Amino acid sequence: MPTIIPFMREEKKEKVIYFTSLVKNMKVLVATEKPFAKEAVEGIRQIIEQAGYELCLLEKYTDKAQLLEAVAEVDALIIRSDKVTAEVIEAAKNLKIVVRAGAGYDNVDLAAATTRGVVVMNTPGQNSNAVAELALAMMIYMARNRFTPGTGSELQGKTLAIHAYGNVGKLVGRKGKALGMNVIAYDPFITDKAVFEADGVEAVDSVEELYKRANYLSLHIPATAETKSSIGYEKLMSMPKGATLVNTARKEVIDEAGVMQAMTEREDLKYITDIAPVAVAEMEAQFGKRFFATPKKQGAETAEANINAGLAAARQIVDYFVNGVTRFQVNK
Ligand code: NAD
Repeated sequence: MPTIIPFMREEKKEKVIYFTSLVKNMKVLVATEKPFAKEAVEGIRQIIEQAGYELCLLEKYTDKAQLLEAVAEVDALIIRSDKVTAEVIEAAKNLKIVVRAGAGYDNVDLAAATTRGVVVMNTPGQNSNAVAELALAMMIYMARNRFTPGTGSELQGKTLAIHAYGNVGKLVGRKGKALGMNVIAYDPFITDKAVFEADGVEAVDSVEELYKRANYLSLHIPATAETKSSIGYEKLMSMPKGATLVNTARKEVIDEAGVMQAMTEREDLKYITDIAPVAVAEMEAQFGKRFFATPKKQGAETAEANINAGLAAARQIVDYFVNGVTRFQVNK
């Protein structure tokens, strides 16, 4: 059993920070249904072992019971899209920190973690370039009739509308500019227009204007209570003729029935997504070449993103235990 000695208590946040020199035998578990690249695991091991901790691995697990058993003794947990439910947190009696190697953290039960005093972090920005490149690739794929014979169109000169200008949105914007696209963006949480101007991107004042002007609408909103099922019939119907919706965000933000209705009424609209909808088979059958979903989420699936996010997760754990750094904590 690890010996944990509370080093400092921040009264306001009621959070205990553990000081590593007083902590022995710290166990860090990498639990990945879909494993990291080998190189990433080796890098994580190096960081963890250099800090004097022990690395445990649970890869390609097929049953929740395996995860529940593996977390029983660990102090820290690194995951990818793996689900950390209240049950998992309950089973992990020594758990102090979970790091989701990636941007979205809707696979972690934040309320359960907070109740138990477990810090949850993500690794923002580490896989953004991979996702941004995929978004642009998806636009080209649809513009060229999914690489089937026939006359396609070009991205140059078209309006690329970016919904949410965070880490991924920004990179899509810059890459769109490099391809000669007219780039506009909407993000109500970025009030400083200079952020957009620095990239030569026009900030629009409403989500309505964004969709109305979009030849390509690239979605980068997180899945939150506010955004869930928020992209549907009305937004799609307001898009210009021949417009394409590109989703590398989350399937939960899509109102599938609404999107299907709009695509049924408007045979010019296209939808491409990195996250297969629930109604994927129906959409494929009904919309043919106007719809495409990657068979498995691919946004962050590059060797580079894998390594970046994995190593960042390991560093953040060490930094938290050693220095109490909570910069990327998402359940503050
Ligand atoms: P980020 O946190 O850097 O940016 C999110 C942006 O969304 C922020 O700028 C925020 O201001 C904005 N935002 C929040 N709520 C909004 C709202 N209601 N309307 C408009 N804007 C809003 O995240 P990111 O790294 O850019 O990633 C974006 C999303 O992409 C993630 O939440 C994740 O779901 C998804 N993602 C998918 C993959 C993949 O494999 N396909 C990989 C990484 C991320």
